[in-house]
Amino acid sequence: MFEKYLDFRSDTVTRPTPAMRAAMAAAEVGDDVLGDDPTVNRLQRRVAELLGKEAALYVPSGTMSNLIGVRLHCRGGDELICESGCHIYNYEQAGYAQLSGVAARTVEGKYGVMRPEQLHGLIRPDNTHLVRTRLVCLENTHNRGGGRIQPYDVVEAICRWARENGLRTHLDGARLLNAVVATGIDAASWSQHFDTVSICFSKGLGAPVGSALAGPREWIDQGVRHRKVLGGGMRQSGVLAAAALYALDHHVDRLAEDHGNARRLAAGIERIEELELAGDAIDTNMLFFRVDRLGTTADAFLAKLQQRGLGMLSTAPTTIRAVTHLDVTADDVDRAVAILEDAVLSVG
Ligand SMILES: *Cc1c(COP(=O)(O)O)cnc(C)c1O
Repeated sequence: MFEKYLDFRSDTVTRPTPAMRAAMAAAEVGDDVLGDDPTVNRLQRRVAELLGKEAALYVPSGTMSNLIGVRLHCRGGDELICESGCHIYNYEQAGYAQLSGVAARTVEGKYGVMRPEQLHGLIRPDNTHLVRTRLVCLENTHNRGGGRIQPYDVVEAICRWARENGLRTHLDGARLLNAVVATGIDAASWSQHFDTVSICFSKGLGAPVGSALAGPREWIDQGVRHRKVLGGGMRQSGVLAAAALYALDHHVDRLAEDHGNARRLAAGIERIEELELAGDAIDTNMLFFRVDRLGTTADAFLAKLQQRGLGMLSTAPTTIRAVTHLDVTADDVDRAVAILEDAVLSVG
């Protein structure tokens, strides 16, 4: 019916490229649970270096990476502070609570960005009635914030405040490299403010699987135990790590194209009167728009897009998210805009 399904649902939908598959096929492997997969070891050293940390751990998903981060910092009866729209709080089944007995306290940011003063006063006093405030988690770029880049000075100020008050810090950097490419501030500079940092290879970087958690050697060694009990000990995972290494070599700088394509899509949507962009800027590879003016719901509108070969996701009753990635070109964006126009005309 349509020559190419245009999949803007997420940057996780990318398929490994032929060259990435070739790198996977050629990977030297061993049993990583026994510590002897050379490709995994190479990836872990590479990530540690990239993020300016002593060590890193390859894990199956960002959810596991964040949970291990939380478990390194918190025990049962501790509390973490995070932004109310963040992935850890909203999209990871509150694993910190289910599996680790940790509570969360949220602060509402603007497009995912908290003001440092909002955190002041949130540390609970030492009192048997209360949980122990232990950790601050930030997300960069912020997914629900529309791919928002955390302002560098905000990151610095929040982490400094946390450190001065004896709190640990964790960065959910699933899309940290998008922030790096968009700002020109390198990954180690962003990461230096945090005790632990998680990055994903399966988002914009285009690998089929995997994330990594970086931090001090001693903690990452502990992280190996957490990974095992969570079922994340993998054997010849060098086959997968090879994809991540390939992505770090070949798919980082090109994130700029995704950012350009997101702006191109936003410009197209702006020309369609019935659709309304949410947010005040397109920082990276994501955008949200509303269909309220059409008098329809996101799901009904998405069905029309789907019929025309365009996939996007609803994130609220009248809000739709679109994400650009390795498998969409500028031409695809133009076709997507044409489909949006056609779908708008068909409503009503
Ligand atoms: C995708 C994502 C994760 C991790 O998700 P997995 O699907 O478990 O890999 C974590 N944080 C953010 C912000 C994400 O977008």
